[in-house]
Amino acid sequence: MATDRADPQPTERNRLLSDAMAAAVHRYSVANPKSRQLHKEACQWMPGGNTRTGLYYAPFPLTMVRGAGASLWDADGHRYIDFVSDFSAGIFGHSNAVIRAAVTEALASGMSLGAPNRYERELAELVCRRFPSIESVRFCNSGTEANLLALCAARTATNRNKVLGFRGAYHGSLFTLQDAGRALRMPFEVLLARYNLVEEVDELVERHGTDLAAIIVEPMIGNGGCIPGTPDFLLALRRLTEKHGIVLIFDEVITSRLSPGGLQQKLAIKPDITTLGKYIGGGFSFGAFGGSHRIMKQFDQCHTSVIAHSGTFNNNVASMAAGVVGFGQILSPDVLMDLNAAGDVLRSRLQRVGQERGVPFQVSGLGSVMNIHFYMGDINAPEDLAGADRELLRLLHLELLNSGFHIASRGLVALSLPLTKTDLDAFVSTIERFVDDHKDLGNSR
Ligand code: PMP
Repeated sequence: MATDRADPQPTERNRLLSDAMAAAVHRYSVANPKSRQLHKEACQWMPGGNTRTGLYYAPFPLTMVRGAGASLWDADGHRYIDFVSDFSAGIFGHSNAVIRAAVTEALASGMSLGAPNRYERELAELVCRRFPSIESVRFCNSGTEANLLALCAARTATNRNKVLGFRGAYHGSLFTLQDAGRALRMPFEVLLARYNLVEEVDELVERHGTDLAAIIVEPMIGNGGCIPGTPDFLLALRRLTEKHGIVLIFDEVITSRLSPGGLQQKLAIKPDITTLGKYIGGGFSFGAFGGSHRIMKQFDQCHTSVIAHSGTFNNNVASMAAGVVGFGQILSPDVLMDLNAAGDVLRSRLQRVGQERGVPFQVSGLGSVMNIHFYMGDINAPEDLAGADRELLRLLHLELLNSGFHIASRGLVALSLPLTKTDLDAFVSTIERFVDDHKDLGNSR
């Protein structure tokens, strides 16, 4: 990182960084023989030893065997304070007693009933009341499904085929707009624009408007680095889509937790379709899409039956019952606002770590969801992070694990309700120490 003395030459920096990495990997490997062995065994039966690519990191990921509150325990018996809470789905922590009681009670009345159950209506009402742009809603099992269903609904509603999205965005494992490796993307005809750049969208809509079914956007790009959309950009999308009869889809799988009515409420923008996922199922598998009656009535099999949407587990009683108490009772608007306020404070404390030292370390995001970057410049779109120092981020991730803090390997931090002020203080001072210890190793400006 930048210091008042001359930067090390790249070769020296690389040597120092690779020494630090080797030492961190060594400590990690020695401390975690059981996780290493479990990963090795898993590789025999699953490609890469797991079933969720994003959970892998070298030299092998930890296997977690227990969670309670905001803590996790790995197979070798170490405790971690969990700062990623299952990529934001675990907002309630790992053992919320009210959710556990509700699920136990629901399961006592049968598991896979294969018929409408009493919880889904209740959860649907809660979702529609909380997000006013959602006049009616359908459930599914993941955010991925929710986005694909939303895109299909937009295509049938408009009788158009093309979809516009933003480079570097992630809308689920089958609709990735990132360049990452061999990321999968359903074979829709997709036009890509730069996030937060109205001019490029304007031009694409001008050229393709009459063929465009939908614009899909996260009001804060989550997986691409926690980059907030500017109000001007998002408002321009609303204006353009309205003008050209294009369906505006807000992917609020992550951002819906950033204010009681989702980020759309904070921005005062009403999308045509909103997609949801993660925490709304109380920590169980969940996805939902909903919006205006005009679009959702396509799914109304009582009358028009334009689109058949089925799914064995769409209304599974565990997710529905957990969602009713988790989303409906525990996550009241006040509780959510407090959690986001705590996130704002944490983010600015972490920002100061980089600013006070004048080093390329920053934290982007909003409220309780943020991402650490070893990067000095402005971040307005995922492409801006091409120069970020991912090796140093990898080292931080391993050293945090070695010190008992669990974050996502890509630097994502998502707060959960059971985290305490002591947890947050300990996290900040551990990061401060890391930055102090490694401030000669950064190379990004
Ligand atoms: N959209 C966004 C914005 C997401 O962050 C994710 C998951 N990280 C998804 C969709 C996909 O959700 P799921 O993992 O439940 O399929």
